[in-house]
Amino acid sequence: AQKRYASIRDKPAETQCGKRIALMMNAGLMADLPSLAGSGAEGVGLFRTELQFLIRNKMPRRSELSALYARVLDAAQGQRVVFRTLDIGSDKVLPYMKPNDEPNPALGWRAIRVGLDKPGVMRMQLQALLRAAQGRPLSVMFPFVAQYEEFRAARAEMDKALAREVKLGHALPSRMEIGAMLETPSLAYAPKQFFEEVEFLSIGGNDLKQFFFAADRENERVRRRYDTLNVSFLTFLEQIIRRCEETGTNLSFCGEDAGRPVEALCLAAIGIRTLSMRPASIGPVKHLLRRSDLGEVKTVIEEARDRGEESVRGAVMDYLRSA
Ligand code: PEP
Ligand code: MG
Repeated sequence: AQKRYASIRDKPAETQCGKRIALMMNAGLMADLPSLAGSGAEGVGLFRTELQFLIRNKMPRRSELSALYARVLDAAQGQRVVFRTLDIGSDKVLPYMKPNDEPNPALGWRAIRVGLDKPGVMRMQLQALLRAAQGRPLSVMFPFVAQYEEFRAARAEMDKALAREVKLGHALPSRMEIGAMLETPSLAYAPKQFFEEVEFLSIGGNDLKQFFFAADRENERVRRRYDTLNVSFLTFLEQIIRRCEETGTNLSFCGEDAGRPVEALCLAAIGIRTLSMRPASIGPVKHLLRRSDLGEVKTVIEEARDRGEESVRGAVMDYLRSA
C-alpha cells in the first residue's frame, strides 16, 4: 500500500485551501522505526512505551530502556518524538506484575493512576528518558490524566527527575515539553490554568470515545455502535479545540480514527492540525487531505448538524462522491 502513495510521501499534507496538517506516526516497537523514513511521517506523535514492557518477561532495567529510547531518537533524526509514559492496567497487563482483580479494569487502576500511586517504575522511566535525550529535545506525555492535580503531580515527578540529573552532573535535554493525553471527558472541563500549564495535549480518541458514549472499546457488541462522526462527539471535540485555541495549547489527535481518511478529514475540518496514526495510514490520509477543501467539509458538517442528523458521515460521503 505504501508503494501506491510513494509519489506523495515527501510532500506535505497541504489541503486545497492551503492548510498544513502534520501527519505523525504511532509506534512502540523497534520494528516500527524503519517506518519513520518509509511512511513520510513527520515524527512520532505517540510512542507507546508500555509495549517494551509487555514484550518482556521481567521488568526492563533503566539502562536498557534508555538505550532503546536513544535508538528511537536516533531514528527520528531530530523530528519530534512524543514518549507516552507507561500506560498499563485495563487491557494491558504486565505478565510479571500481580494482576489487579478489578470489576471494571477500564475504569480502574491504570496508567497515570498507577504511576502516581506507585511511582517507582515511573521515576525509573523518566530517568531513562532524560538519559536518552542528552542534549536533544524531549517530549513526554502522561496518559489517562483525568484532572489537573494528576498532571501537576506527574510534572512534579519530572521536576524531581531533572533535579536528580543535575545533581549527578548529567546533560539535560536541550528542550523539554510535558503534555497529557485527553482521554477522559473530565479533562476537557479542567480549569483554564491546566490548559495554560500543559505544553501540549493529545486526544486519545479510542479511550475518549469509549468514555463519552459509555461503550467498551473491547466489547464487540457495542464498540461500533456509536459513530466517531456522531454530531455529539464532534461537538464535544470542537469544544476541546476551542479551549486549546483560547489558551494557545498545542493539540493533536492520536486515536485510531486519525488513520481513517474520512474521520481524519473531518477532524481537520473542525480544526485539528496534528494527527498521529499507524504508519500505513499516512499515505491514504494525506492523499485525501491534499484533494480536499476544509472549509467546504466544515460547511457540509454544519449543514448535517443543522438538519438534525445523528452522524455527519452520510453527508460527508455524499459530498466526497460528488466532489
Ligand atoms: C487512545 O486511547 O486513543 C490512545 C491513543 O491510547 P491507547 O489506544 O494506547 O489506549
Ligand atoms: Mg488510551
